[in-house]
Amino acid sequence: MFAFSRRCLRSNAGIKAFATQSGRKKLVILGTGWGGYSLLRNIDKKLFDVVVISPRNYFLFTPMLASTTVGTVEFRSIIEPVRNTNFRQTGDFHLSYATSLDIQNQVLHLESVLKPGLGYSVNYDKLVIAVGARSNTFNVPGVEDHAFFLKDVPDARKIRNRIIRNIELSLHPGFSESERKKLLNFVIVGGGPTGVEFGAELYDWIEQDVARVYHQRKDQVHVTLVESNQILSSFDESLRKYAENKMKQRERFKLVKSSVTEVTADCVRLSTGEDLPCGLVVWSTGLSPTHFVKSLGVDKNRNGQILTDEKLHVIGDPTNNVYALGDCADIKDNSLPCIAQVAERQGEYLANQLCGKDHEKFTFQSRGMLAYIGRYEGVSDIPKIKMQGVSSWFLWRSAYLTKLGSWRLRMQVPIDWTKTILFGRDISRFD
Ligand SMILES: Cc1cc2nc3c(=O)[nH]c(=O)nc-3n(C[C@H](O)[C@H](O)[C@H](O)COP(=O)(O)OP(=O)(O)OC[C@H]3O[C@@H](n4cnc5c(N)ncnc54)[C@H](O)[C@@H]3O)c2cc1C
Repeated sequence: MFAFSRRCLRSNAGIKAFATQSGRKKLVILGTGWGGYSLLRNIDKKLFDVVVISPRNYFLFTPMLASTTVGTVEFRSIIEPVRNTNFRQTGDFHLSYATSLDIQNQVLHLESVLKPGLGYSVNYDKLVIAVGARSNTFNVPGVEDHAFFLKDVPDARKIRNRIIRNIELSLHPGFSESERKKLLNFVIVGGGPTGVEFGAELYDWIEQDVARVYHQRKDQVHVTLVESNQILSSFDESLRKYAENKMKQRERFKLVKSSVTEVTADCVRLSTGEDLPCGLVVWSTGLSPTHFVKSLGVDKNRNGQILTDEKLHVIGDPTNNVYALGDCADIKDNSLPCIAQVAERQGEYLANQLCGKDHEKFTFQSRGMLAYIGRYEGVSDIPKIKMQGVSSWFLWRSAYLTKLGSWRLRMQVPIDWTKTILFGRDISRFD
């Protein structure tokens, strides 16, 4: 997490200098995720001076992030540098994050990611907030300190290192059988698509790579998925049941129906009173607002998301120049799921609206949901079509391949998949 200090802040507050030398309006986009990146790619740069501010200088294809945690796909195969989008000026991208907003004066306060404490500000004519959301810990004690999250590339790297560390450590002398079992039990909290897909990747890794290179440890590696409700609850019931049955049949894979009351350095405590000793906890249960969104004095819903009207204008903004989209926002009386499809569509819609090409309200038609459940099987919940098994896995891979942001990525990902099938996953450990 970033420190929200504002030392060295050189504020322009009160200057209200909108006009750029070009005479074009200045559009500032916060965030390079699904929403911000889609807006950036679709906006007509002849009409705006576009400035992007984000703590990361790449777009991340999140649907394949779980595949990177065990090395099915490499980290660099699912990220696209945002500087490839042709900025007018080199300085139009800031590797910084927004700390606060002076909405009256249209000034945004930033802090550098590269030099913590270096604060500065930029002004704007139009501002689009697309800063996403954080994982929700629901204030469960110990989650923030001991659990891993799966939101971005650094998270996936940490998880991959921890998995390899634990299995190597379990081979060291001096560990009792129960300590080894603990190191090799990997717990996932949350049975949504992210938790299920991470569990599936972990399971494949055990079946294929642990069996290959750590064969004496194969029977000792376990995955436990904890969910208080149903897994894949947003999917059709038949698909949910299919996924659940498949998982229950798997050796060394346990599905536990319970909520979590505490996470410690080496165990997960359940509401049933049971303790699950473990060497890794991945927390994947819902979203909560970022610090920046929390700091904004605009209308919010009860989850802390920014409320917008149906044209994505922020409600409570007196200037009518601020928009919000993606996971950080919610359309009043028309709540949509926090998924990439929505954020991407909103970015595209807003680009058209700002350029005067779309005067209608935002509408969204779901193209369906896909999830990988392991062993080359998937579930697909597409309007009018419910699919499961190997054909669904094939659809999952084909659909995501076509959705990857560039030809470079569309070339890299199949190469990674092929390498994994032919040579196994890379289990090298380095920080
Ligand atoms: C592992 C995983 C798998 C997923 N799989 C799917 C899937 O298969 N299908 C699907 O539809 N959805 C999926 N999702 C959900 C989807 O990724 C999100 O709904 C989507 O990313 C939301 O887009 P966004 O632009 O709102 O936020 P994000 O994509 O999260 O982007 C937020 C951006 O804002 C930046 N930012 C944060 N704070 C600040 C700040 N203060 N100032 C400036 N910039 C800031 C971040 O660095 C980031 O660049 C998945 C999510 C995860 C984590």
